[in-house]
Amino acid sequence: MHWIWSVVAVLTVYTVRVSMPRREPKLYLSFDDGPHPDHTPALLDLLRLHGAKATFFLVGSQVEKYPQIVQQIVDEGHAIGNHSMTHPRLPQLSARDQLADIARADAVMARFNGRRRQMFRPPNGRATVATIVNSLVTRQPLVLWSIDSLDYQLDAEQVAARLEKLTVRGGDILLFHDDGGAALGALSRLLPRWSGSGLRFAPL
Ligand SMILES: [Zn+2]
Repeated sequence: MHWIWSVVAVLTVYTVRVSMPRREPKLYLSFDDGPHPDHTPALLDLLRLHGAKATFFLVGSQVEKYPQIVQQIVDEGHAIGNHSMTHPRLPQLSARDQLADIARADAVMARFNGRRRQMFRPPNGRATVATIVNSLVTRQPLVLWSIDSLDYQLDAEQVAARLEKLTVRGGDILLFHDDGGAALGALSRLLPRWSGSGLRFAPL
């Protein structure tokens, strides 16, 4: 059976995106687990203030609760992606249940941007064999990140201080969350600084 894992490992390298081309001075901010009724609109205000575009990996059940926020995300030029329907622990589900959960979220999100399949980011970044094979077969991009802000562990000040010390460069995909307030506080400090050093902010 070992050869199967070798094949999966090779396919993973080709299928899973952790960064974007490095040629251009663009950062790719991404926000998981929303939309949230308070934090997401506040983030949209901040992004608009700085002319920044980003990507929101949405949870389908939240999309059903707050469709008007999803519409605002899309109307303001940001990208949306599929972060599953119910944020399950994928490795604990059967392959069939994993794919059913992802497909439900695709269906819920399609009406906002017309795409039958969205970019997919697995909950907790846990890509499974089923999701990797699925993304190959259906050409559904599987997107992770190159820099984790740790905004689910640290407060805004700590996130900002840590990211100020890291070398952030063009092509980096940064992981944040919009179900809490740390990203907003940290990015209020970081966006002017990064803009000042010539970086721009683009959707995936
Ligand atoms: Zn998540």
